[in-house]
Amino acid sequence: MKRVLITGAAGFLGSHLCDKFITEGYHVIAMDNLITGDLKNIEHLFHLEHFEFYHHDVTKFVHVPENLDYILHFASPASPIDYLKIPIQTLKVGSLGTHNLLGLAKEKNARILIASTSEVYGDPLVHPQSEDYYGNVNTIGPRGVYDEAKRFQESITMAYHRFHGLDTRIVRIFNTYGPRMRLNDGRVIPAFIGQALRGEDLTVFGDGAQTRSFCYVTDQIEGIYKLLLSDYREPVNIGNPYEITIKDFAEEIIKLTGTDQKIIYQPLPQDDPMQRQPDISLAKKILSWEPTVTREEGMKLTYEYFKNLSQEELSKKEH
Ligand code: NAD
Ligand code: UDP
Repeated sequence: MKRVLITGAAGFLGSHLCDKFITEGYHVIAMDNLITGDLKNIEHLFHLEHFEFYHHDVTKFVHVPENLDYILHFASPASPIDYLKIPIQTLKVGSLGTHNLLGLAKEKNARILIASTSEVYGDPLVHPQSEDYYGNVNTIGPRGVYDEAKRFQESITMAYHRFHGLDTRIVRIFNTYGPRMRLNDGRVIPAFIGQALRGEDLTVFGDGAQTRSFCYVTDQIEGIYKLLLSDYREPVNIGNPYEITIKDFAEEIIKLTGTDQKIIYQPLPQDDPMQRQPDISLAKKILSWEPTVTREEGMKLTYEYFKNLSQEELSKKEH
C-alpha cells in the first residue's frame, strides 16, 4: 500500500485530497496545525485503519515514521483575509514549511507535489494566463506575503529538483470552490452565499468589473491527482477557464438563492487582480484533463452544503 503525507489536510482542498487518496487505496497521513482548518472536515476518516492525523505546524521540523511515497504540501492560509491577518505565518509556511517538506521528501526519497497558485501571476498583464507568463506582483503590497511565499516555494522546489534530483510537481491552482470552504473565510463564494442566507446585501468590491474563473473542487482534485501521477516537473495550471465578472456573479448568486438581496459596493482591496482566467492548454495536453462540472452544477451543490449548516455557524461573520 502506498503512503501519502498531505499537509493542510484539515482545510478545504486538503480534506478533499484525503478523501480521494483513501478512495484510491492509499495509506493517508494527514498533517495540520488547524490555523485556518477544521477537524470537522476529516473527522469522518478518523475511524479508518489507513488514516492518521498529526497535529503539527510544518514550519517546525517535520518527522514522519516509516517510508513515504508521496507528499502533497497544501498547508497555507489561502484566503485574502486569512493571509492579511496572519502575514508572517503565511510567509513562513510557504518558505520554511516548504523547505522542511522538501527535506523530508529527500530523506524518504518521496515524490512531492507543491500547491502553488494563480496569485504567482499577480495582477496579470497577460490574459488568459499561461505557465510561461512571469507575472506582475507587488512584492511589498499586503497580498505580497502570499504571492511571494508561493513564488519562493516554486523556486526552492525547482532548486531541489535541479540540485538534488528530487521528484517534484507544482500545481498552480486557480480559484476553486465547493463544500467545506469556511463560510466566514472571506472568499467571494462563501461571502456571497453567507450574505444571501443571512438576508444581507451582497458586498461587491470595486465596481465588480474584475473577473475570476471558478473551478469546482472535484475537477480540481482530479487534475491534481493526474499531475502527481504524471512525469511533468514544471508548473501546471489547474482551473476552469469559464470567466465571469464579480458583479455578474453576484447576480447569479441572487438568482440561485432565490433571495431579493441587493448588491452594495465597497472599496476594492489593494492589488486585487482585475482579471484572471487560466490557460489550461498544457493540462489538456499532458494530463488529458479538463474540468467537467459547470458553474451552474457546482454552485447548486455548494449552495446545498452551506444551506445545511447550522444557524450558529451561519450567524458567524467574517473576522
Ligand atoms: P484552507 O485554509 O482551507 O486550508 C489550508 C490548511 O492549511 C488549513 O487546514 C490550515 O490549518 C493549514 N495550515 C496553515 N498553515 C499551516 C502550518 N504552518 N502547519 C500545518 N498546517 C497549516 O485553504 P485551501 O483553500 O484548502 O488551500 C489549500 C492550499 O491550496 C493552499 O496552499 C493554497 O495556497 C492553495 N490554493 C488554494 C486555492 C483555492 O481556490 N482554494 C487557490 C490557489 C491555491
Ligand atoms: N470579492 C467581492 N466581495 C466579497 C469578497 C470578494 O467583491 O465579499 C471580490 C474580490 O475583491 C475579488 C473576487 O471577489 O475581486 C475574488 O475574491 P476571493 O477573495 O474569493 O479570491 P481572490 O481575490 O484571491 O481571487
